[in-house]
Amino acid sequence: MFKREIAIICIFSMLLLLASCGAGESVRQIYVMDSVASIRLIPKNEAAADLICKELYDMDNVLSAYDGEVYDINRNGEGKASRHTEALLRSSLELYEKTNGAFSPLLGSVIDLWGIGSKNYIPSQAEKENAVAASDIGNVAIEGDVIRLSGGARLSFGAVAKGYASDVIKSVLEEQEVEGAVISLGGNVYVHGKKPDGELWRVAIRDPRGGENSWLGTLLLSDRFVISSGDYERYFEQSGVRYHHIMDPETGSPAQSDLAAVAVICESGVVGDAYSTALYVMGKEKALSFWREGEGFELVLVGRDGVVTVTEGVADAFAPESGKGYSYETARR
Ligand code: ADP
Ligand code: MG
Repeated sequence: MFKREIAIICIFSMLLLLASCGAGESVRQIYVMDSVASIRLIPKNEAAADLICKELYDMDNVLSAYDGEVYDINRNGEGKASRHTEALLRSSLELYEKTNGAFSPLLGSVIDLWGIGSKNYIPSQAEKENAVAASDIGNVAIEGDVIRLSGGARLSFGAVAKGYASDVIKSVLEEQEVEGAVISLGGNVYVHGKKPDGELWRVAIRDPRGGENSWLGTLLLSDRFVISSGDYERYFEQSGVRYHHIMDPETGSPAQSDLAAVAVICESGVVGDAYSTALYVMGKEKALSFWREGEGFELVLVGRDGVVTVTEGVADAFAPESGKGYSYETARR
């Protein structure tokens, strides 16, 4: 890879491999939203890099379900939302409709019940049913900037906060007229403009069964988000069963998907983030129908059976990595 002098961005992992990090760039790495954010602007633009970091810290302060504004709204059952919380809830409610509820911003009670990656609790059927009932989308109302919750519902923006944040970063890049940039928020990538040599960026799709630095293919892109979800990101195992962090809103349990990972390629971070989670829940067949019926996004689906499906809009941009044990197919409309 380094011989070819391309920047490979490992998505899913928090690691950004910088193939040609030089003096004419602004680079930042900060910890926000429970993950590492890597920012690389070319040419150097320290003011824009500082502004991006400030925006990220501001969003982190309000959107976390564990402290800040969303936490307060969950605890009090209602509250005034600042601009990010209001915008994210409004987008999330639309994305709930679009995904037929496979993505839901109201799954806090289900997510907290299991505490995947923290308390790692396996709930009873009754506990799951209660949490699913509390997550009914009718249990949230937004009037102006006031959010009201009922029936034990709790907001959770874990599936979309990073995507939303990358949209905000994209608008800063545009306003500041940054020519080229690579942004990675916990492995969700946005590539902006072109590389200094005028070429496209090469974004790696992580191998969900390999280590953090192992990828199964790359995509040549510009001005696109590549946003991923999978069962390898956060999970625990008990009696040979893997309990991972992507929940099926209907059952209140980790989704039983035939997919190991989903990458969504699109022009909106919040849409890509909601879709990556939702399409993982849907599984391969429904995910492909959703793609055929929809527009404005492309997919790389990694099946548990070792088949990687690349949708036709990015088929030419995709280069498989040999020797990984996967087979590759192209999905057509
Ligand atoms: P990551 O956070 O690793 O980028 P995702 O974007 O797929 O992965 O978000 C997963 C997180 O979203 C989970 O940790 C959980 O907090 C929350 N979540 C899990 N299932 C759903 C769902 N069906 N709808 C909305 N949020 C979910
Ligand atoms: Mg997501």
